[in-house]
Amino acid sequence: MKNYQVNNEGYYGEFGGAYVPEILHRCVEELTKAYRDILESDGFQREYDSLLRDYVGRPSPLYLARRLSQTYGCKIYLKREDLNHTGAHKINNAIGQALLARRMGKTRIIAETGAGQHGVATATVCALLDMECVVYMGKTDVERQHVNVEKMKMLGATVVPVTSGNMTLKDATNEAIRDWCCHPADTYYIIGSTVGPHPYPDMVARLQSVISREIRAQLLEHEGRECPDYLMACVGGGSNAAGTIYHYLNDERVKIVLAEAGGKGVESGLTAATICLGRKGILHGSKTLVIQDEDGQVEEPYSISAGLDYPGVGPMHANLAAQHRATVLPVNDDEALRAAYELTRLEGIIPALESAHVLGALPKIDFKPDDVVVLTVSGRGDKDIETYLKNL
Ligand SMILES: *Cc1c(COP(=O)(O)O)cnc(C)c1O
Repeated sequence: MKNYQVNNEGYYGEFGGAYVPEILHRCVEELTKAYRDILESDGFQREYDSLLRDYVGRPSPLYLARRLSQTYGCKIYLKREDLNHTGAHKINNAIGQALLARRMGKTRIIAETGAGQHGVATATVCALLDMECVVYMGKTDVERQHVNVEKMKMLGATVVPVTSGNMTLKDATNEAIRDWCCHPADTYYIIGSTVGPHPYPDMVARLQSVISREIRAQLLEHEGRECPDYLMACVGGGSNAAGTIYHYLNDERVKIVLAEAGGKGVESGLTAATICLGRKGILHGSKTLVIQDEDGQVEEPYSISAGLDYPGVGPMHANLAAQHRATVLPVNDDEALRAAYELTRLEGIIPALESAHVLGALPKIDFKPDDVVVLTVSGRGDKDIETYLKNL
């Protein structure tokens, strides 16, 4: 049987590892030594589970979308991460890592953010746990995601605008890593997706795996079986997808479909379809697929959705694609927008633009009438209303 989980050296097949500056070796090693024991301890699990239940509002519903099902000729269940506190799946991870940081004796939290969703989730948790919080955000994103910046400030976080490079997520991540290098003793870096050096991809996947744990129990209740025919999720760095598929990875009967951002089209030069276009490289501490030019320079990605606008992808997902365990479909801006309107009109659910990309993959699949599909709606569309109206 193939193994799709991380090995002891931090690799998924040939992807992953921990490529960090000398000064961070000790930090990363300390984290690698600590994370499994802490995450698996009774004390951690009790505190984490009770916050997920009473603060986040879990379990998130598994909802049979009847009219959407009719449209695509199969049975589609939506896993409603959009109903979580702060509006997306990111809070599952932020809470887990903040609890871990506290148990490791760290007092200062840093984070990177693109659209601001991970920044808001982290600032929220830091308010809750009374921890200092600094969020790095590209200046371009600070300007276009103004509401999230105000939320973070209201929550007590310091938002640092980053003016290097394109002034977006990639640059914010570089700056957060730089901060960590300067404050290795007291600072914990909460990464927002299944990216970065080992052990982050595995740690974030474990913290998000609550999604597939719930799906198993909920599907058993609805359908009398734990396994769907299809699992579907969008991929930016890969955390909501990792959570959705975690407990199904080794069951090859369950087909995995991942949607990445095609932007204006995979061949257009304006795209974030990393698995389609990327070549092996090292980005933010991990060997993975990276959109890069002939000389290995990382290229600026593009997507209408800020949460998918990243030139890399988690090493777990790069490996799932390489092993043909997952089918990866690029979904373009216009296809995602159409799908967002469709879900809104059929089911009364306005999805996040990121989640709209996986909905946009539905017409590309040839379903059979008795297929059971579980599709994760990673977040709600409140933050995207302006974009939706502009593109009506
Ligand atoms: C951040 C975000 C994503 C993309 O991140 P992943 O780590 O790939 O899940 C997807 N959906 C929403 C709503 C987000 O906020």
